[in-house]
Amino acid sequence: MVVQQLIPQPEWTNLSQRMIWHGRRICHARKPACGACPVAKICPSVGIGEMDKEKALLLVKTDKDFR
Ligand code: SF4
Repeated sequence: MVVQQLIPQPEWTNLSQRMIWHGRRICHARKPACGACPVAKICPSVGIGEMDKEKALLLVKTDKDFR
């Protein structure tokens, strides 16, 4: 409900896809790469994953990891 008020309806599907890919690439369930996360400054869960930037960058998945 809150998200619906913040995001225009035509963007809902795009937002959903972005959230999925954010989880696949950066915010992994077992080991989030918080130190490399672009939304870390506004995330209430920041710090549950690796905070060291260099170590966190090694956790980030790229296109090559999904081929
Ligand atoms: S800062 Fe938040 S959104 Fe980003 S990786 Fe950590 S837990 Fe996930």
